[in-house]
Amino acid sequence: MRLSAYFLPLLKENPAEAQIVSHRLMLRAGMIRQSAAGIYSWLPLGLRVLKKVEQIVREEQDAAGAQELLMPTLQPAELWRESGRYEVYGKEMLRIRDRHDRDMLYGPTNEELITDIVRGSVKSYRDLPKMLYHIQWKFRDEVRPRFGVMRGREFLMKDCYSFDLDKPAAVASYFRMFAAYMKTFKRMGLTPIPVRADTGPIGGDLSHEFHVQADTGESELFYDADVVKLDESNIDPTSPDVQKYIANWYAATDEKHDQAEFEARVPEERRRRARGIEVGQVFYFGTKYSEPMKAVVAGQDKTQITMEMGSYGIGVSRLLGAIIEANHDDNGIIWPEPVAPFKVGLINLRAADAKCKEACDDLYAKLQKAGVEVLYDDRDESAGAKFAAMDLIGLPYQFVIGPRGVTNNVVEIKNRRSGEKQELSPEAALALVAGTNA
Ligand code: ATP
Ligand code: MG
Repeated sequence: MRLSAYFLPLLKENPAEAQIVSHRLMLRAGMIRQSAAGIYSWLPLGLRVLKKVEQIVREEQDAAGAQELLMPTLQPAELWRESGRYEVYGKEMLRIRDRHDRDMLYGPTNEELITDIVRGSVKSYRDLPKMLYHIQWKFRDEVRPRFGVMRGREFLMKDCYSFDLDKPAAVASYFRMFAAYMKTFKRMGLTPIPVRADTGPIGGDLSHEFHVQADTGESELFYDADVVKLDESNIDPTSPDVQKYIANWYAATDEKHDQAEFEARVPEERRRRARGIEVGQVFYFGTKYSEPMKAVVAGQDKTQITMEMGSYGIGVSRLLGAIIEANHDDNGIIWPEPVAPFKVGLINLRAADAKCKEACDDLYAKLQKAGVEVLYDDRDESAGAKFAAMDLIGLPYQFVIGPRGVTNNVVEIKNRRSGEKQELSPEAALALVAGTNA
């Protein structure tokens, strides 16, 4: 992509409405624009990252055995009356009436809708288990939308639902998702902290939240510093000891925190009290929805079995804020490679110079041919402005070509994260970034 043609409205000044760094940087880097409180448009650069995050989530859901479908954003109120949640769910739910005076709502979550779909087609014990997910916009009319995409009103969520024959199988589904979540967040360059959590309006009795540590996080966590050693490859979801393995390390939200237990179990030097951003949550809630909504299958001996359920959410759009909170410096964003909107930012230091242009155009074409995602700053701007823009949008590699580089046949390469610079021939520069793509 040529920057001269790209829609990338960068802001020079810090927007006054943004209180935290990720919100500030997403606005300044031209990733999002607010359309109403807590409701954002995703501009091209922001959308590229959103899609990358979404794709990592999708791959790990698929690998865990979940199948993707797509449910609508609007739901009929009747289903929520069946589960009993229509009256219980607070003002966060946006209630709408259509032209025929039917009560509708913009889904804040989808337990009822998926249960309706499954009960309509899954009739025999042989049809279970099933795990179904979608990645869809949700609406919650939050009292205080703030911090940009971190607490929006409209936001993108991955929500998955499991249906099993009995509790042991449902708990195994729960821990299969637990392991998938650890992998998902690690692939994005994050260090997830899984903590015991309250179940809130979703209900149930087994739940964990996954947090990213950040001073701007809205949750308070108490945990054993060694919890980062929890290795998802050691999680055998069907083992009766899986819960014990995870409970090896004390980690809880403030609602679930027990100071006496914390002090008894965790040596002082490993006790952490920190703020966290909730990027995902998993719930096992048994028959909370399947019972009132009569989601049953015929068992082997013709008995009726009520399905055992769980649900599993990831805040896809919130993750962008969390990733930036964990990856930035004074000059801007530092994208972890797997979610970077482009891998390379190619800077032509002297756009008006024919030789520089030729060398840059040539490397640009070769990068593209090698499948490397590259943003080419071919604008007629000062070198300072170009460096500042590249640092702000945080691409992992900056390739810089100016008159001196052309003479010596070298590209200056800057690693955005380490700040290290090296000079390589254009061929070696290409090989450096094409290695993992080609
Ligand atoms: P919170 O406690 O932050 O309000 P929640 O516990 O109500 O979130 P869940 O029902 O667990 O949210 O939804 C699944 C995931 O969706 C959350 O872990 C979070 O990452 C994301 N999410 C929830 N609310 C919002 C929001 N208002 N804006 C952006 N993401 C959100
Ligand atoms: Mg939650």
